[in-house]
Amino acid sequence: MDSRSDRGMDRGTDRGKDLRRAVVLGAGFAGMLTASVLARHAAEVVVVDRDRLPAGPLARPGLPQAHHGHLLMASGAESLEALLPGFTDSLTAAGARRLALPGDLLSLGPHGWLPRIREASHGWCLSRDLLDWIVRERVLADPAVRLEPGVHAEGLCGDARRVTGVRLRGDEWPDGHELAADLVVDATGRGSRAPRWLAGLGLPEVAEERVDCGLVYATLLVRPPDRAAGFPSVSIQTGPGAGPGRAGVIFPIEGGRWLVTLSGTRGVELPRDEPEFHAYARALPHPLIADLLSACRPLDRVRRYGNTADRRRRYDRCRRWPDGFAVVGDAVAHTNPAYGHGLSVAAGGVLALARTLERHGPDRAGVTGDIQRAVHRGTRAAWSLATAQDIHYPDVVGAHPTRADTLRARLADRLQAAAARADGTGGDADAILATLIRLGTLKAHPTALARPATLRALLHPPTPAPTPDPAPPLTPTEQSALPQAPHHTSPHP
Ligand SMILES: Cc1cc2nc3c(=O)[nH]c(=O)nc-3n(C[C@H](O)[C@H](O)[C@H](O)COP(=O)(O)OP(=O)(O)OC[C@H]3O[C@@H](n4cnc5c(N)ncnc54)[C@H](O)[C@@H]3O)c2cc1C
Repeated sequence: MDSRSDRGMDRGTDRGKDLRRAVVLGAGFAGMLTASVLARHAAEVVVVDRDRLPAGPLARPGLPQAHHGHLLMASGAESLEALLPGFTDSLTAAGARRLALPGDLLSLGPHGWLPRIREASHGWCLSRDLLDWIVRERVLADPAVRLEPGVHAEGLCGDARRVTGVRLRGDEWPDGHELAADLVVDATGRGSRAPRWLAGLGLPEVAEERVDCGLVYATLLVRPPDRAAGFPSVSIQTGPGAGPGRAGVIFPIEGGRWLVTLSGTRGVELPRDEPEFHAYARALPHPLIADLLSACRPLDRVRRYGNTADRRRRYDRCRRWPDGFAVVGDAVAHTNPAYGHGLSVAAGGVLALARTLERHGPDRAGVTGDIQRAVHRGTRAAWSLATAQDIHYPDVVGAHPTRADTLRARLADRLQAAAARADGTGGDADAILATLIRLGTLKAHPTALARPATLRALLHPPTPAPTPDPAPPLTPTEQSALPQAPHHTSPHP
């Protein structure tokens, strides 16, 4: 890489591009999206990753979360479309499943099964390896972008005022190598060492927020029987405020396969093998996932993952920020994956970076500080949604519910109870359910709750429902996909 990279730095600025070289650390989701943006501003974009990236939608060691179900929310898909026009068509062409919400979701929560009324928002279900491959293939088609696999980022060059490059280590340079760059972007994910690197340049400690409810995931990739083709996604969860949380989700992904993910917060032991996996699914508040699972063929072993705390680095608050350096994706903020927001926040952050560079130009002094503040603004909604719930699980680390938090949780519970009564007739309950779904998919701002239907439900909560219907709202076709005697069912409106 030495000779090629030095040549790149010598050749001067390409016509119409302000930067000679930009370097992106991490060729994951946020890193490749960032490279596509920087290619508009830099003659050469070098993306380094510690992994040797596969030539296809395949697993790799640097992305352990890819074994687990990922739902790409509507807001994330919109950011992707803005960054890489035509991206939604690529998702469809690759076999990703578009889930209309709540219609394509059988969701059981504390107030019963969610009614499957008309679409309020949507999400995309596909394996994480396929999603990253679609992004990678598309971005690497740009001749300005070059991938350097098997290379570890180890630190920054420069001083507290300006980052001038990055220190790398790879097979070629076991003793390290410095690569000069006009702009370095850290997209190394939740293990990012940027705070330490900045301290190494003489900058003050970066403030960090952390809330940890101890969530652990266990996932099994399976092939369902043919009769279950087109079956909706399933989500069964106990929710916060009622002891340790337990949940199970079926993600229908490309190739007619399912990722079945079970999870539990601190105090719950997650399965390690198949027999334990089946037992855990059966102990959920409803046997639907366990019943479906019993007819599936496993395609992998049980995979576990536990680095799931809500964690946010407050780069936006740094009083001094060096030119020539920015941080995006999970390296800035990541939240409990059960809410499914990481990809959308990461894509939104890269879009914010793109717009800031477009507006101010990439070489203006202070532009990277502006980027950090714009990226931070995009983390707020997901952070509030996740931490507002996670603080109510037992033995949470990092925060404890105040009286105001408890009151907010009670109001949120009232709204969920009202939403569970949606019936497709267009009344208050339908409006509340649609708003909650739009909030959950980051398609609406919390101010969307300030509407008459919500206020009526908060001021005059519905009388407690009789025992929620224990039967999932299945269509007759879905019912026939179940392996055993059909459950007592309620009709899908
Ligand atoms: C179990 C689990 C389930 C999830 N489910 C969802 C979901 O349903 N929906 C959703 O939207 N989000 C979900 N997320 C969040 C999502 O995975 C992240 O938000 C997303 O991966 C962020 O992308 P990123 O590019 O910032 O980081 P990553 O995807 O982690 O990429 C980081 C890259 O940096 C490389 N790297 C790391 N260190 C170095 C180094 N020193 N030098 C060189 N390269 C390095 C890695 O190899 C990797 O390629 C989930 C997360 C977890 C853990």
